[in-house]
Amino acid sequence: MQMPDESVVAPTPELLAGLDYWRTLDIKQQPQWSDPTQVAKVTGELASLPPLVFAGEVDILKDRLATAALGKSFVLQGGDCAETFEGATANNIRNRIKTLLQMAVVLTYGASVPVVKMGRMAGQFAKPRSNDSETRGDVTLPAYRGDIVNGYDFTPESRTADPQRILRGYHTSASTLNLIRAFTTGGFADLRQVHSWNKGFSSNPANQRYDSMAKKIDKAIRFMEAAGANFDELRTVEFYTAHEALLLEYERALTRIDSRSGLAYNTSSHFQWIGERTRGLEDAHIDFLSRTENPIGVKLGPTVTRDEVLALIEKLDPKREPGRLTFITRMGAGKIRDALPPILEIVKEAEAPVLWITDPMHGNGITTPTGYKTRRFDDVVDEVHGFFDAHKWVGTYPGGIHVELTGDDVTECLGGSENIDEETLATRYESLCDPRLNHMQSLELAFLVSEKLAEHS
Ligand code: PEP
Ligand code: MN
Repeated sequence: MQMPDESVVAPTPELLAGLDYWRTLDIKQQPQWSDPTQVAKVTGELASLPPLVFAGEVDILKDRLATAALGKSFVLQGGDCAETFEGATANNIRNRIKTLLQMAVVLTYGASVPVVKMGRMAGQFAKPRSNDSETRGDVTLPAYRGDIVNGYDFTPESRTADPQRILRGYHTSASTLNLIRAFTTGGFADLRQVHSWNKGFSSNPANQRYDSMAKKIDKAIRFMEAAGANFDELRTVEFYTAHEALLLEYERALTRIDSRSGLAYNTSSHFQWIGERTRGLEDAHIDFLSRTENPIGVKLGPTVTRDEVLALIEKLDPKREPGRLTFITRMGAGKIRDALPPILEIVKEAEAPVLWITDPMHGNGITTPTGYKTRRFDDVVDEVHGFFDAHKWVGTYPGGIHVELTGDDVTECLGGSENIDEETLATRYESLCDPRLNHMQSLELAFLVSEKLAEHS
């Protein structure tokens, strides 16, 4: 509600018209809705529901990302490949937050840099697919496009795109975000609880290493408290949400005009990214995200060209605003050392204030002979090392990491200190989409990244 003395800045007519311009362009990776009037009804309702995040928070995140782009902090972005409605339980959400908080502590302590924490959470419900349909035996049905579109079960009913799911996506995001806010500001994330986040995990070397680090942190905090320092800031952590802005009807309905500035903010999450498959320069996704104020990411695979990179900067960050644009590179371990440096060079020459994040997951997918989509932990680590190497060669900043992870003991990625092998994959493979690092692999990765980061700074 507007207070009488608050000034309201109206949006320009061009901005308002522009927010729907994407509808006239090529829109990749969208579902076939059988009844478009239902979609309009649902998005009309969505447009009247409260925003999930606020413009002021989005601005603060942009400042934080600007700092990371200058190498003064490091971004940790993680969560499921695809969240599910069923998976939005208190335990699942708590475990993911706990894993991210532990990783953040490892990075902060090990490399002595502030960590910007971002969940691939509270909105990661829509997925791009390589094929529009899936065939099993002699039955062909539409591909699963994420819970916000259709169901995973392989039946015609479940695979039919259902507009009501858009509303459920909003409500599930709202309740997930509510719990995230409770966990991160209500005492659970207090750094003085650093030990308790490790409870219930096995005596794996990564956990033992974490425990001994937590002891040192405890000791340092007790010392500082005894010396009279006030640690109220330790009680809460800033935690931001992010997802791939794929389903444009959903993203549009949650895009609102900020009355302070008259500008458009996508309130579906703090940060949105555009995937490798939807970043066509003349396509709908790039156009739509170019018109909002949020910090945004673009995934870059090994085939991206220098011209494309420069054109993306021109379209998405014409004002060269620090914190606005992040490139999330996903080159593959075998390619990153060749593919990334020339791209870093050209952005450096253009003096664009881009934040570089590595996604060491999506360039390293393999399928086992038994049919499991998986990744080798060693390839993930190798891509991270390649990312740091490339930045060192070019003299740019490795600003963060983007990983698919879960807080649970799943068996979806091969290797790590628990030596998950091809046979073990079957014991607890739960992802409906890409394989995620489990709790232990995530913690191990954080230790490795913290060492690299400490070397780099
Ligand atoms: C993802 O992040 O889950 C994804 C599909 O990534 P990309 O666009 O890099 O393939
Ligand atoms: Mn994925």
